[in-house]
Amino acid sequence: MSDCVFCKIVDGKIPSNKVYEDEKVLAFYDIEPKAPVHFLVVPKQHISGAGDINGQNSGIIAHIYEVIARVAGEMNLTSYRVVTNNGTDAGQTVFHLHSHVLAGRVLGGMA
Ligand code: 5GP
Ligand code: ZN
Repeated sequence: MSDCVFCKIVDGKIPSNKVYEDEKVLAFYDIEPKAPVHFLVVPKQHISGAGDINGQNSGIIAHIYEVIARVAGEMNLTSYRVVTNNGTDAGQTVFHLHSHVLAGRVLGGMA
């Protein structure tokens, strides 16, 4: 999508601090980290959010979690939180599916 910030990052039109890349996903550090470790994993294909996952594209979710486990392992993270906000009221501000991975401090309870 031409006006999507994460599509622009995937396309290299906006720079990012990459942590992992393959043919399906890109992982990069969040520009406004909410924890000492805070990176995002996004599909290269534009999917607007978790609410757009269906039987045709759900394989990307398994792949995202495989990538998270791999990258977290490489970073020696034993505790981390994976968050996907869906919709404005849930805090989604970028409407391109992404998983936040947060670690490096005690994260506390999660409602
Ligand atoms: P959301 O609020 O949609 O769940 O998460 C969007 C995240 O993307 C936010 O944590 C925000 O800091 C991050 N973000 C927004 N624009 C950029 C950008 O241009 N580069 C990077 N690296 N992160 C961004
Ligand atoms: Zn996009």
